[in-house]
Amino acid sequence: MPTSINPATGETIEEFAEHSDKEVEHALANADAAFADWRRSPFSRRADLLRRTADLLEARKDELARIATLEMGKRLKEAVAEVEKCATGCRYYADHGERLLADDHRDGPAKQNYVAYLPMGPILAVMPWNFPFWQALRFAAPAIMAGNVSILKHASNVSLCALKIEEILLEADAPQGVFQTLLVSSKRVEGILRDPRIRAATLTGSEGAGSAVAAVAGSELKPTVLELGGSDPFIVMPSADLDKAAEVGVVARMQNNGQSCIAAKRFIVHEDVYEDYLGRYREKVEAIKLGDPMDADTGMGPLALPSSVDDLGDQIGRSVKAGAKLVTGGGSPEGPGYFFQPSIIADVPEAAPAYREELFGPCAIFFKVRNADEAITLANDSEFGLGGSVWTNEPAEQQRFVRELDQGATNFNRMTASDPRLPFGGVKRSGYGRELSGEGMHAFMNVKTVTID
Ligand code: NAP
Repeated sequence: MPTSINPATGETIEEFAEHSDKEVEHALANADAAFADWRRSPFSRRADLLRRTADLLEARKDELARIATLEMGKRLKEAVAEVEKCATGCRYYADHGERLLADDHRDGPAKQNYVAYLPMGPILAVMPWNFPFWQALRFAAPAIMAGNVSILKHASNVSLCALKIEEILLEADAPQGVFQTLLVSSKRVEGILRDPRIRAATLTGSEGAGSAVAAVAGSELKPTVLELGGSDPFIVMPSADLDKAAEVGVVARMQNNGQSCIAAKRFIVHEDVYEDYLGRYREKVEAIKLGDPMDADTGMGPLALPSSVDDLGDQIGRSVKAGAKLVTGGGSPEGPGYFFQPSIIADVPEAAPAYREELFGPCAIFFKVRNADEAITLANDSEFGLGGSVWTNEPAEQQRFVRELDQGATNFNRMTASDPRLPFGGVKRSGYGRELSGEGMHAFMNVKTVTID
């Protein structure tokens, strides 16, 4: 049963009945019927819907943000920023969608040759709790603009957010069936995905969930986009501005209470600046105040789930046993809620879990390297390849990192963050396909070749 629990206290907020098989069937029929009309709707109507959605998100951002904070524990300030980002994403597609979807004329064998971007139909979106509004809307906004319709299966701990997204879209006057939320367990995803009315799926979440959904979609020959885990490197070279790199590096690791796929997880620091950088970083981490995520002066709230606390404690414990050094933190404070101290481990040997596994919580992993070659080798020695941040002011060095780091995004002298104007996604076990920008919209379109004589 989908249950919302306040992670700051451990108290149950609400339990939700799952949608029945009959209700799921009704939603699929609704989506199918809605698509028949929505695919023919003019771009102006789709853009208007997105603009109204953006206005509503902004007008109700405080209410929505409180719900996210209550259900998954992110700091209220961060939750407000997330809702604002959703509004920006909706406006981006409202403003640029028509251009991104315009027929693309090419040279070819006929008198007229062009590529037309056409919608596919109902798309299933399986989403995680860590950015409960943004993850869902960064898929839904381009889908709506493209003329697709969506069914959202959100994580079972953020049902209030999931229902609010549907409510906002209906209030913005989305036709029935253009966007629907289904409260169902992950076990029922397979049945929905196998339904012939569902044409494709997108999943953001863990590798396990991604490969389960991709296996079903593959057997049905349906396309998927997968946004999975990451263990992004944050490389600091001698030419970096160390103060800024420390300030941004702490935010890049600890934002969202340490639970972001694109968080900086592995700090790979040149030996010439290692001690200096670690000292500055540690000071900032030790100053972070754990507390109620609703309070404006709280620096970090709780983790979303009790299992996250157990998993992180276990990964750190096993890493220390394998020879890693605990620099600070490493456990939970006394008291209620799913809190975990902001932590740092260093000198992590290859055999330690922290060397290879994703640490989905507030723990920075430090490595010392002698040069750019070692930094690149270590950064690439990971099954993941989502994003990464490199701090260097040497242009030639920057180009090496661009060409040689295996990741979906490399950002210099700034942290990794998604932006609607730029594509977002990973390589290796971080998934495939792209969200956002034109690439994200085209991921779920029939790229139709047209020739006319
Ligand atoms: P998760 O357990 O994989 O859950 C994500 C979603 O998948 C939830 O809706 C979940 O539903 C569903 N799900 C789980 N197992 C499934 C299965 N076998 N079949 C179908 N659906 C299934 O992910 P999480 O642990 O909550 O989230 C953390 C992970 O997500 C981390 O690895 C993080 O890096 C990654 N992430 C990636 C991105 C990105 O953009 N690349 C963004 C955010 C998070 P239930 O809740 O009902 O189980």
